[in-house]
Amino acid sequence: MAIINSRLEVPNFLATDNCIAGVIEKVDVGLLKLLREARIKPKPILICSGGTSSRCTAPGHWTLDLRNEYQNIEFDLTSKQVEFEAGITMGKLLEILSKEGRTFPIGLSNLTGLGYILTGGVSPLSRSQGLAIDQIETITGVWGRGEPFEISRPDKFSNSEIKMQWRGLCGAAPFLAIVTSLKVVTSPLEPLLVWQKVLNPDQLSELIQIAENWPNSISLQWAWGDKINAYVVIKNANKEEKKTFKRSIKDLTSYSTNDLLEIPSLHNKPDFIIPLLNKAKMSRYHSEVLSLLGPIWSNQSNDVIKSLNKVMTKRPDTNCYIASQQLGGSTCQISPEKTSFVHRQAIWKPWITAAWPAGDNKKREKSLSWLREVWRTLEPYCPGVHMSQMHPHLSWHEKELNDAFKEWLPGLKSLKSRYDPQGLLPPL
Ligand SMILES: Cc1cc2nc3c(=O)[nH]c(=O)nc-3n(C[C@H](O)[C@H](O)[C@H](O)COP(=O)(O)OP(=O)(O)OC[C@H]3O[C@@H](n4cnc5c(N)ncnc54)[C@H](O)[C@@H]3O)c2cc1C
Repeated sequence: MAIINSRLEVPNFLATDNCIAGVIEKVDVGLLKLLREARIKPKPILICSGGTSSRCTAPGHWTLDLRNEYQNIEFDLTSKQVEFEAGITMGKLLEILSKEGRTFPIGLSNLTGLGYILTGGVSPLSRSQGLAIDQIETITGVWGRGEPFEISRPDKFSNSEIKMQWRGLCGAAPFLAIVTSLKVVTSPLEPLLVWQKVLNPDQLSELIQIAENWPNSISLQWAWGDKINAYVVIKNANKEEKKTFKRSIKDLTSYSTNDLLEIPSLHNKPDFIIPLLNKAKMSRYHSEVLSLLGPIWSNQSNDVIKSLNKVMTKRPDTNCYIASQQLGGSTCQISPEKTSFVHRQAIWKPWITAAWPAGDNKKREKSLSWLREVWRTLEPYCPGVHMSQMHPHLSWHEKELNDAFKEWLPGLKSLKSRYDPQGLLPPL
């Protein structure tokens, strides 16, 4: 059933403020017919699961909003796998799993939806548990050409087409299909420790190098706005892990056990504080985010941080910031040919947020050109892109696609030409 609507209320303000054609809420025979007959106008149709990205709506376009109608979730007591529909947020998923003593590597926000998993899914637990896509067992949905599918993780007996489909869906699904539900493996719930501290640029540079030598059970996240905030998550919060962490930072900054917060699950984690003046709370802000991927920085970390220090002085708005997550360990152990997340050797995932007051086009241009400058600054150290946010409406979409999928891009385009030949889903 289509609802004519000019706005869709979602967590992302830019997406909410777009004046759209309307909303569709069900993947029913009517929608399948529209897809099969390529009668979606204008194309593409946008998809909303969590609604946290700027691209779940677009001016004048239809949005398929899966949040109301796709809320089923079922935990299998025997296999410990969970099957859930596309309207379930990551926070809700963990809330339900924690009742079963299980967990899943969600990201830094409880608000994100299926888009988090389908685009790769980098979690503070990824170093020990892998990416979110690495946990998927079954994917159910509809190809852009209007044909329903259900695909399970391929094995050595699977044919090459199934392997290609799986590879495309794990990391690049938004270009190929509408995913209505996923079945994923879960892991036992273990308490975690979180350490948060304000650092200066020299301390950050040092901590990055220290973190590159941590065991996979510890991960570093940091955010750089008006200040720098470091956020460390420690799994297996036993004495050994605590000692390793404490020893590693003893020359860097003061340490007190009170700085360590014990939490039962990622779902209860304290907010990852982005240290910004709270201007965004006083007025409505829009933003675009670009995520990069790069290998170990080692002692180049000093050069990275020096260069970032320079670009941070040029922020056009105090709500622009840079942040990063740490990968490695389990995320490197999957072959780059298995999924569309090809940057399996990546250790750092910095992301750049360009922000501006809603409706201020001059500020928008300035913030986006600052984002490009930060991207150029980081590119020698982070040549990859994590396609966790797509920007077909911006001039650098082709570059982000190339940097995200590299030599897999022609294969992905070939999949797109077969499964979404009319380009009813976002362009590749
Ligand atoms: C506060 C915050 C914290 C974040 N932290 C992390 C993090 O720790 N790690 C990380 O990896 N990423 C992180 N992200 C990025 C986030 O995972 C991506 O932007 C993701 O695409 C958001 O998915 P969504 O479902 O919430 O958003 P939506 O805006 O609903 O969807 C995002 C995109 O995915 C596509 N999509 C969504 N659902 C489907 C579906 N069912 N089928 C096909 N395509 C679909 C849509 O076309 C859309 O372009 C964060 C984002 C925010 C806002």
